[in-house]
Amino acid sequence: MRPPLFDPLFAAITTLSGIGPKLGTLYRRLLGRDSEPRLVDLLFHLPTAAIDRRARPVLREVTPDQVVTVKVRVDRHRPAPPGRDRTPHLIYTSDETGDLVLTYFRARRDYLEKLFPVGETRYVSGTAQFYDGMLQMVHPDRVVDEKGLARLPAIEPVYPLTEGISANMIVKAMDAALSKIPALPEWHDPAVLRRHGFPAFADALRTVHRPQRMDDIAPESAAHMRLAYDELLASQLALGLMRAHNRKRKGRAHAGDGRLRRAIIAALPYSLTLSQTRALDAIVADLGKPERMVRLLQGDVGSGKTVVALLASAAVIEAGCQAALMAPTEILARQHFNTIAPLAVAADIRIAILTGRERGRERNEILERLAQGEIDLLVGTHAVFQDDVIFRDLALAIVDEQHRFGVHQRLALANKGEAVDMLVTTATPIPRTLVLTYFGDMDISELREKPAGRQPVDTRTIPLERLPEVIDAVGRALEDGQRVYWVCPLVEESESSDLAAAQDRFKALRKRFGAAADLVHGQMRGSDKDEAMRRFSLGETQLLVSTTVIEVGVDVPEATVMVIEHAERFGLAQLHQLRGRIGRGRGKSTCLLLYRAPLGETAKARLAIMRETEDGFRIAEEDLKLRGEGDVLGTRQSGMPAFRIASPEAHGHLLPVARDDARLILARDAALAGERGQSLRMLLYLFERDDAIRLIDAG
Ligand code: ADP
Ligand code: MG
Repeated sequence: MRPPLFDPLFAAITTLSGIGPKLGTLYRRLLGRDSEPRLVDLLFHLPTAAIDRRARPVLREVTPDQVVTVKVRVDRHRPAPPGRDRTPHLIYTSDETGDLVLTYFRARRDYLEKLFPVGETRYVSGTAQFYDGMLQMVHPDRVVDEKGLARLPAIEPVYPLTEGISANMIVKAMDAALSKIPALPEWHDPAVLRRHGFPAFADALRTVHRPQRMDDIAPESAAHMRLAYDELLASQLALGLMRAHNRKRKGRAHAGDGRLRRAIIAALPYSLTLSQTRALDAIVADLGKPERMVRLLQGDVGSGKTVVALLASAAVIEAGCQAALMAPTEILARQHFNTIAPLAVAADIRIAILTGRERGRERNEILERLAQGEIDLLVGTHAVFQDDVIFRDLALAIVDEQHRFGVHQRLALANKGEAVDMLVTTATPIPRTLVLTYFGDMDISELREKPAGRQPVDTRTIPLERLPEVIDAVGRALEDGQRVYWVCPLVEESESSDLAAAQDRFKALRKRFGAAADLVHGQMRGSDKDEAMRRFSLGETQLLVSTTVIEVGVDVPEATVMVIEHAERFGLAQLHQLRGRIGRGRGKSTCLLLYRAPLGETAKARLAIMRETEDGFRIAEEDLKLRGEGDVLGTRQSGMPAFRIASPEAHGHLLPVARDDARLILARDAALAGERGQSLRMLLYLFERDDAIRLIDAG
């Protein structure tokens, strides 16, 4: 439970005077909240720029187009003639050095006459230009009298706005919110504060919202950095607490004797790469420890994660336990099952498959055998982790090809069995900073090298107008006995239009190439999909037209050509995934990226990177630069909190610092029980990472 101390900060924004339900809805949009926006959300809405109103020239010295604040005397009004709305209302003003005309379009006369009483002095702030030889200011940003001047911010923060919420409204609401910050203890070490010159938390918020210098707004300012660091530290602490919690949960040692692994390795038509061996060693070492394993296996497409997963399963099966392998799609689950089956036979491992397709008697029988321990390895889709699926003794759960797999899902999955060890494999490499950010609770293994004998893929970008040539080239490849993927464009957000595009393309290619062409898409019956994949992988068909269902994981080593239509519509990670379907065998592979010209800047950059490199880790870093982290991880869908204050560009360098800091803190005080620990708990509440506090208090 969040302490009552925080209640004012977490109160709805509509509790502020002047903000009713209607404005509440607008603020909700502005602050990007799914639920009611609160004061704390407003406080974390930082200005993105500032206007410097400190220039106070006399009129003769005003520089056009620069923001100035000038002291003028109101001489006379020239209102718009009645009925001539387009003519502006002019106010003639002056000082000892010159004249200034204030120009208002469509303004109410009585309002302006009250704002500018003739004969009085006013301060106006805005930008002036020469027009008709006269110095003019159109709609000054600010008009104040002597008293108001004292309150006019010399440096004015500029906030991202939404229609219906003005800058003034935000400033006012922000003032109210700033006054509600409770007295909070300092959670940072004095040495850290000194080293970075950090102000206290509340002071930092005040500084960025009421800047005194232009630099105060910058992401690199001490105040902004302090807030970003607080946010990063809160997340690293939360991950650290989860990690400690995972470990503390009793695990069991499942050290097998290696006999099944040896049998599988003997049956492989290749030898393991060095990184496969290393990853496997690390996993087996974890499995042998009486603590729970939570490990991420990172590897580029085609680096051979599946066989590592199988060998890890074999290790627990040797110890008399069971393993489960969950794939994200039906196609992949079947494919894994098919690759694993012969190896399992060689090692006497009993396997079964469970997806949405196994129903009724068949499903019951699988569940029965699973409960009896007559199945050693269960392969499937998420159906594997449904509530009524009960293992006799599940020791290892593997989640394949997932990176959109949030902290919460990880916790849920780990709760499935008594002390189940967990291995998650990623579909594509994840940039280092994001690994730290989102997978800091896990141990990491990386497969950096590709299996020996792989040839580089020749990647070309081709404008769509040259489609006929591309089709001819595909024709030659087919004659040559090669196998070709043809990926159809993403049409819209809707699957049905994707499908229509794929069907059209399929019809055309079928006409040209006959029965060699086949089609696979997401809305086909599962068994039809399998059939299509099976025919293609056996070479009964040679040209597989598809929607993006083949994106992840599909493995047909004989395929050597990949055509992607409207490549400009795909994200970088997706293109890399798709291309990863070829270049897996001995043959030389070609990837043709068809695009519609003209290309936008980002699309151009994406395609250039694709031509330049096949290194998934590098592509992941570039993707991060082009898209921002929320998109890279698909965090919005999976509910992983992206950062509100810290940005990867400006504050990325603080992340490893925060991680080390968090480690040190938890090494000294794992339960955050000491005085500093109690303060750090405040930090976790503030950034809503208090899930983690529950983990410690639960023991
Ligand atoms: P991914 O990491 O993308 O899931 P897979 O596990 O599907 O990769 O493996 C890609 C292909 O590489 C498969 O055909 C697999 O049999 C093969 N493979 C895996 N490890 C090796 C290796 N050490 N040497 C040669 N081929 C390998
Ligand atoms: Mg795979």
